Amino acid sequence: MLSWIVSKAALVCYLVGKYLEPFSLSLEKLQEVSAQLQKDMTRGLGKHTHHRASVKMLPTFVRATPDGTEKGDFLALDLGGTNFRVLHVRVMEEEQKVLKMDSQICAIPREIMLGTGEQLFDHIAECLSEFLDSQKLKRQTLPLGFTFSFPCEQKEIDKSILIRWTKGFNCSGVEGEDVVKLLKEAIHRRGDYDIGSVAMVNDTVGTMMSCGYWDRSCEIGMIIGTGTNACYMEEMKNVKRVEGEDGRMCINTEWGGFGDDGSLGDILTEFDKVVDKTSINPGVHIFEKMIRKFETRFISEIEEPDSGLENAQQILTKLNLKWDLVDARVVRLVCDTISSRSARLCAAALATIANRIRLNRGLDYLKTTVGVDGTVYRKHPNFSEELQAAVRLLAPKCDIKFLVSEDGSGKGAAMVTAVAQRLALQSRL
Ligand code: BGC
Ligand code: MG
Repeated sequence: MLSWIVSKAALVCYLVGKYLEPFSLSLEKLQEVSAQLQKDMTRGLGKHTHHRASVKMLPTFVRATPDGTEKGDFLALDLGGTNFRVLHVRVMEEEQKVLKMDSQICAIPREIMLGTGEQLFDHIAECLSEFLDSQKLKRQTLPLGFTFSFPCEQKEIDKSILIRWTKGFNCSGVEGEDVVKLLKEAIHRRGDYDIGSVAMVNDTVGTMMSCGYWDRSCEIGMIIGTGTNACYMEEMKNVKRVEGEDGRMCINTEWGGFGDDGSLGDILTEFDKVVDKTSINPGVHIFEKMIRKFETRFISEIEEPDSGLENAQQILTKLNLKWDLVDARVVRLVCDTISSRSARLCAAALATIANRIRLNRGLDYLKTTVGVDGTVYRKHPNFSEELQAAVRLLAPKCDIKFLVSEDGSGKGAAMVTAVAQRLALQSRL
């Protein structure tokens, strides 16, 4: 009996393996993906080409990473990851510390995720009000960093127009509007407290900035979780749509949109097409949909080296699926294949950015640090190793250090706000 199961398993895995073949991407294929992304990034930065670019390369108006002189008390909001959070953060110059004084998680019910913009911002303003009460901060007018992890066309650090919702959000009346204005209007509708200056932050930027406080060579931020994206410091002279040639600006690449113009056609599998078609936003964020699939938690548990097979069985049961031992093995193989492709695709994208920074600066060799966050990167048993191994092959002239960010969306948002304040003060002197 046992040998029959084993040989059946081997046969099924062989057949499933055939289906999974298109998921394995050779180094050459990854190099092609990287070359394509390089072209798309240049289009996204161009004055006349950015309108139609799939990789949006959004200016963030973050012009510097921390220099260690930042200080003060800040509020931070974090929307667009696993939870919505409100935080009180203190940045201390003397001890070079960023302290999270307190924080609160508020659920965003599904009706609100899919409701009206007014409902969403009223809900946010209410959570903030409760938090300020609990912290006895209502009488103060603190500056606020808003980590809003969706693609936004930023006009200034405090003017940020939502291009489109991603990751399952779809509130009406927000796309095309200034998110800062919507937040302030909701706070004014209540009238029980006020906030100071606002800095809008993508989570990638918060991640880069929170790591940048510890490691001054951190110039890339990357998220691999509910969504995927990266930002990096680009030379102003290459940012054709923002006035000015000097210095650098952080660019939010929005690499999740890579492939939206069909450029990834030859590596998309029939399964990717189904995932896209059955999503709430067909045709957009194609690259992102190749990276994130199924619940991350499940994939990580199923691929656990020792208990993976048992976990797979439990998860299949929890999902009310009928299974036998062979099914559990197949599920494990599929998870393995998909996350491995995901790690290699992210590696290709990250290598593209590192290579770009190296060439921008005319260096033979670049040493740099990337701040990383996101559940897939943090929790998956071997995703980070596989990604790093592939990056070494794809960016052989770059020595990249990976730093897992400690609360980039909270502390990082406070850091961005603090740096913006420092620069504003300096320019007034
Ligand atoms: C959003 C990005 C965000 C990323 C990671 C994507 O869906 O478009 O703005 O950085 O998710 O949270
Ligand atoms: Mg410029």
